[in-house]
Amino acid sequence: MELTDPIQYLKGIGPKKAEQMARLGIYRIYDLLTYYPRAYEDQSRLTPISDLQAGEKATVTGTVMSTRERVAGKRRLRILTALIGDGTGFLQVSWFNQPFLKKQLQPGRRLFVTGKAEYAYGGQGQFAMSQLISYQLLSEQEEPEGKLGILPVYAATEKLNQAFFRREVALLLSLDLPLREVLPPAVEKAYDLMPRREAFSAIHFPKDAAALAAARKRLAFEELYLIQCGLLLLKRKARESKRGVRHLAAGRLSQQVIAGLPFALTDDQAAVWREICRDMELPVPMRRLVQGDVGSGKTVLALLALVKTVENGFQGALMAPTEILARQHYESFTRQLAGTGICVGFLSGHLTPKQHEEMYERIASHEVDIVIGTHALIEDKVQFAALGLVVTDEQHRFGIAQRAALEKKGASLPDVLVMTATPIPRTMTLTVYGDLDVSQIRHLPPGRQPIRTFVRGTDRRPLIYEYVRKQIEAGRQAYVVCPLIEMNEDVDLPSAEEVYEELRHGFFRGISCGLLHGRMKAAEKEAVMQAFYENRIKLLVATTVIEVGVNVPNAALMVIEHAERFGLAQLHQLRGRIGRGPYRSYCILVSDSKTENAKERLAIMAETTDGFELAEADLRLRGPGQFFGAQQHGLPDLKVADVLRDTDLLLAARQAAQETLKRSEDLSFVLPVLAVQYKEQFLHITDT
Ligand code: ADP
Ligand code: MG
Repeated sequence: MELTDPIQYLKGIGPKKAEQMARLGIYRIYDLLTYYPRAYEDQSRLTPISDLQAGEKATVTGTVMSTRERVAGKRRLRILTALIGDGTGFLQVSWFNQPFLKKQLQPGRRLFVTGKAEYAYGGQGQFAMSQLISYQLLSEQEEPEGKLGILPVYAATEKLNQAFFRREVALLLSLDLPLREVLPPAVEKAYDLMPRREAFSAIHFPKDAAALAAARKRLAFEELYLIQCGLLLLKRKARESKRGVRHLAAGRLSQQVIAGLPFALTDDQAAVWREICRDMELPVPMRRLVQGDVGSGKTVLALLALVKTVENGFQGALMAPTEILARQHYESFTRQLAGTGICVGFLSGHLTPKQHEEMYERIASHEVDIVIGTHALIEDKVQFAALGLVVTDEQHRFGIAQRAALEKKGASLPDVLVMTATPIPRTMTLTVYGDLDVSQIRHLPPGRQPIRTFVRGTDRRPLIYEYVRKQIEAGRQAYVVCPLIEMNEDVDLPSAEEVYEELRHGFFRGISCGLLHGRMKAAEKEAVMQAFYENRIKLLVATTVIEVGVNVPNAALMVIEHAERFGLAQLHQLRGRIGRGPYRSYCILVSDSKTENAKERLAIMAETTDGFELAEADLRLRGPGQFFGAQQHGLPDLKVADVLRDTDLLLAARQAAQETLKRSEDLSFVLPVLAVQYKEQFLHITDT
């Protein structure tokens, strides 16, 4: 049997089961093999009934003394209770709606049960299993010790229960699966790792805690090692490619655009710009990540790099994660490039078919020099005449796979510049961006006033809005952010629509207000944003559509309603919309939440504006998945490793991967495994 064979090849799995398993993401033999337990049940020790502790899990073996059946409650639950004894005491065990068990639980029958013990109701100190986790009937001669062990607990469903998973996984492990060795023997030895085949067995059915830990370490290491190999291979492939685009030193156009900027580049910006130039001037494709907190001034670097590619006769593409942001870049670039002769085009999913065709043609014919757009840029129909540079903005929304799709669009490999405001901890940088070189903008442009942040209860809304009104009357603009778009009867939260109606007829009567949310038509959104940019709208009620990138320096106030509904990373991005100009800015987090976690999150927001500090706090409070937003992080699927906890392992795996790649030209042992495991991310290296 091959690891890529459909799961149905396994005995006991028919079309129906296969379909149910597909819903859990299990399609192939390999997927079941790596459907690791989400927990374990320790049945490695037997506890005498007299030693049971209330509230603790234990495994007990005993003999059925008697059974009794009753019907209880409105729902006519049939409860079967057996009293079992082991010579040290008695224990009640109950089953619900399983009348057929009565026949099997004859007095004298021996039983093996695991569960949580509690004092039995009215049982005078007797114990009952309040949560029966598992039970097994023992045959006459069977020794209960034979049943002892650590049992896997899978993320099961009603139809696919624990017993099913335990049976099928055990069956799978008993087969002679073609599990190739992935790690070079030297690595396995150096890091004291359990052999692969043994690790797969032990992670499902560990014989003790030490075996489980060793299996986990081995598989986590392997996972991280593979990803690092993949990323380093990507990097090497780009580096060795003779198809890179070679740019010349900055020419007249670049100088003209720099001279036309309304500000001088900061030292950090200038340093990063030099790094970008150096990369672009090499024949090897650039793969550079620019990391800089919100408002640090990354956009101008994108602009300069794009101009540089254009003056060298190439086209450039800038991809943004939202329509609003793409549109904003388009408008501001068009303005800043007026008089240079550079033609800027816009592409998003919301154009008419005719506009699409037209834009495709203008891109293919090189009439357009710079295209700015959304994910629509990735589509196959977009073909460039001479793509020299791809910039992706706010990269954390794009995975490795999307990045690759864009890169494939040129005859040569274009230079790649990635901008992110996400203050990614180092370990994550290595995992998500392990194939990129990193530049950092550490300081904000001068003259910024620090943003002041306050947490306030809803009872203070009148005061808050009175203050906002005063500020608007003094010339500023303001955002009000709400978690929901429209009325929702299930949740007791004011929606953006409601808040908008309430505010414009209430506190802000006579002041021009706007509403912006994700479900509005593209043209409507655009009109509202345009009015806000032009200061015709003073108060913008919005959902998180304004989260990234929006740049209106005159907006100096932000009120976030139900702030507890947002994650730290999101609040930080939102808050980054203000404090972009010379005005003192205020962010008010409105919340009545009493939960500790929410209170802590908001308190941290009020305390610091440092993205790195916030990111670390967020990781601590919510874990890595949440931090990047569901499914959007582009992080390869890690099943065992944990980028937070396994930092040491990650660094070791990266080093091992580096050494492997340095030593051996032949990666035939890595590529097939990479293909099975991370097909999507590394398609373009495993394909060839
Ligand atoms: P981000 O890094 O979040 O993308 P932007 O590039 O949007 O930040 O820049 C934020 C604001 O700072 C913009 O209004 C931009 O014009 C301004 N800015 C950028 N660089 C400088 C600078 N060197 N001096 C002054 N203002 C700058
Ligand atoms: Mg930006």
